[in-house]
Amino acid sequence: MSSPSSDQVLRRLERVIPGQSTSDGAGVRLTRYIGSQSLPELDPFLLLDFFESDDPDDYIAGFPSHPHRGFETVTYLLAGKMRHEDNAGHGGVIEAGGIQWMTAGRGIIHSEMPEQENGRLAGFQLWVNLPAKDKLCDPAYHEYPKARIPAEHRAQGVDINVITGITSQGTTGPVSGAVTRPLYLDIQLSCGASFEESIPKGHASFVFVIEGEIAMGSDVEGQTVSARQLGILNAGDTVHIKAKDAEARCLLVAAQALGEPIARYGPFVMNTTAEIEQAIRDFNSGRF
Ligand code: FE
Repeated sequence: MSSPSSDQVLRRLERVIPGQSTSDGAGVRLTRYIGSQSLPELDPFLLLDFFESDDPDDYIAGFPSHPHRGFETVTYLLAGKMRHEDNAGHGGVIEAGGIQWMTAGRGIIHSEMPEQENGRLAGFQLWVNLPAKDKLCDPAYHEYPKARIPAEHRAQGVDINVITGITSQGTTGPVSGAVTRPLYLDIQLSCGASFEESIPKGHASFVFVIEGEIAMGSDVEGQTVSARQLGILNAGDTVHIKAKDAEARCLLVAAQALGEPIARYGPFVMNTTAEIEQAIRDFNSGRF
């Protein structure tokens, strides 16, 4: 691919978030990177959890029936199996390398449960906000196994699974139509390999390092992100990621910031307190 032209601004590392251990659902142990005290949100991202365990006690309770309104939930699995079922009639099992993209819209009640009794379960859940005009849209659900997610091979040990969005080489992820125009890439780099991609201005972006250590931009002090860390990027046009001293794997995720007021109460995320109160009334009176 061509180098970015000189008028393009490289996105730099703004902040590194180590994550906060917590539990959610019926007692699933996880690490929260967005949606915690240290980073309540990264517009339009409302929450990012990473879960990883070989011990069923950490995950077996799952996330039984619960509601959502006003945003999208995105589950990407690295290992194991999870089953989704909702009251709009959608259902499916996601396996390693697969993605579930659920648009809660005006309201959905769903469960997300491990489809296994032992072994390793690992993956991410990301919440992506919806703009005011779409918060009460019809619920939707999309699920794609690893086989449906295109792999882009670039020179020099760079392999990318494109989950959403379109890369500079034209590879297009299967999840389409999301209003925040998200880019969600799983990037594998051999030692010393580097990756470059443009990201639209106005998109918020982050990297999450799954394995190894990466350097953002050039290899200067303060611009590295280690395994199990979240790196928040600043504004700009392009991203440059380099695997430092070993091979590395990371997520690169970006989406259009909304710039709207956020009112959140657990699984409901709206623009105003009055809309939250309406969501609670609607849920309690069975209108989801
Ligand atoms: Fe949920």
